[in-house]
Amino acid sequence: MDTHPDEHADTHVRELPGQGPNREKVDRLDDTPGGTLGPMSATHPSTPAETPAPTPDAVAGSSRIDLTKLLVSGKGHRLGHTPSATVGAVRTTRSVTSTPPGPVPLADGLVVDGILARLHRAGGVEEFTTQVRSARGCRRPVRLAGRVTAIGPTGLPELRFDTSSLPDGVLLKACGSRRETVCPPCASLYRGDAFALVASGLRGGKGVPESIGDHPAVLLTLTAPSFGPVHRRRPDGTCHPTGTRCRHGRALVCGLRHAGLDRAVGQALCPDCYDYEGAVLFNAGVSELWRRTTIYALRALGSLLGLSSRQACRLLRLSYVKVAEFQKRGSVHLHALVRADLRHDEHGPAPADIDPTVLASALRIAAVKVSTPVPGSTTGARHVWGTQLDTTIVADAENGRARAAAYLAKYATKGTDEFGVLDHRLPAGICRDDRLPEHLQSLVATAWDLGGTEGLAEVGLQRWSHTCGFRGHFLTKSRRWSTTFGELRAERQRWRLARRPDDQQAGLEESVVTAEWTFEGSGYLTVGDVCLARTVEDQLRLGRFVAREGSRLADGNDVGS
Ligand SMILES: [Zn+2]
Ligand SMILES: [Zn+2]
Ligand SMILES: [Zn+2]
Repeated sequence: MDTHPDEHADTHVRELPGQGPNREKVDRLDDTPGGTLGPMSATHPSTPAETPAPTPDAVAGSSRIDLTKLLVSGKGHRLGHTPSATVGAVRTTRSVTSTPPGPVPLADGLVVDGILARLHRAGGVEEFTTQVRSARGCRRPVRLAGRVTAIGPTGLPELRFDTSSLPDGVLLKACGSRRETVCPPCASLYRGDAFALVASGLRGGKGVPESIGDHPAVLLTLTAPSFGPVHRRRPDGTCHPTGTRCRHGRALVCGLRHAGLDRAVGQALCPDCYDYEGAVLFNAGVSELWRRTTIYALRALGSLLGLSSRQACRLLRLSYVKVAEFQKRGSVHLHALVRADLRHDEHGPAPADIDPTVLASALRIAAVKVSTPVPGSTTGARHVWGTQLDTTIVADAENGRARAAAYLAKYATKGTDEFGVLDHRLPAGICRDDRLPEHLQSLVATAWDLGGTEGLAEVGLQRWSHTCGFRGHFLTKSRRWSTTFGELRAERQRWRLARRPDDQQAGLEESVVTAEWTFEGSGYLTVGDVCLARTVEDQLRLGRFVAREGSRLADGNDVGS
């Protein structure tokens, strides 16, 4: 399959929301779909509300519905269909996606019914799978019906594209989610973009000159302080072999050696002792603490170079890209790549006389010194970073810098929890889901309760209870780091368009193009379609693997010859 070169970059990368009073001055890295509408995407429908993927139980529950009857009765029938509403020029109808998160039950009679129904529908399986392929195997694509017209050579509007000839009369558009738990194929593409965005700020490319590789750069890890002892796995494998007894009479001791996937890891030794409020408020204040850290770091760098704060601000800039990582204990860690630039010529020559070790020292000084007021505190309490602090110089363009970019990119598709339970805003602060450890449930409930208290209303904790108080995007960058996600998508779109036949190219150059789209729902209509789509997803993944290994082999041969 013909894919954009970057789509082979199946590099592993995570999101951050940045709302609220302390919002950072950063480029927002959004989750909008990746531009797979093809040539006719002149206008774009409003992004539909995200509906959580149903659980296997929900899919099993759908077996009570006779899907065959629904399907043979023609268009317009949808699972969970609700009356349509009008949003601007786009009419929207909501439907429940039928995408199960787990393996598709192949033996299920419903699957067979669904596939048979697909075979009998216009276009059959072949056209349907072609459509899924163009949506890159997305697990919950948006279904759009509509048409595109353009003013042709005669000066009259001419029809250029119409979905009525497509299977089910709709175009499938990839959901574009960044979350691995929502849609692995779209998350994989996002991870590739995140890698390209991070890497180009370290070693050039995507419009950034390669000389950026000469700028000093440091990978900085900032951790949250302790809010009480939790089960853990230390480098030597132990948890808490020794400890005291808490005021609730519990021994703060654990002699176990937890396995990596042990659910106990991250759980409080004594939930009554754990400072859940402190943990939530720290998450809520992380973005502001980071913002001040960058200011302090620039001053510290100036001081180490013998410059005044004013001179440092006038001459230098610290550009960065950072990701937030949720630890098992529900606290946020930050991993940031920080680069020293000359102000007003960020992508130009490297600032003279700045050794990366000096930059690392400045970052350490700032991280230790910085503090911010705890929101709503009446005692003057302040947030500080945890004592675990790490700075690593990233020097070698080919290995060190690429590895650092991949390291950051792997966090870009993660969320609050590993099951995707907390991928969406919660209608209330109670999250009863057996997959979610009790400790995380307590953090969510605490964020919700705190959000309702006086003095914390403006922090928006209820809005961010699903991220345990953390506000902001999982991946953010400063303005001058490199390119943007939007530009990467646009580049991919241009690449695709450039490979279209000439007659279609001509249509694109027409000056006035109008598009009308109707949102028909998201996800697939039957479990049979889900199964077919999953087959396409597997094929695409295999294709990428083969392409990647092929180019790796070719590179090896080049070296050997
Ligand atoms: Zn998707
Ligand atoms: Zn333990
Ligand atoms: Zn206790």
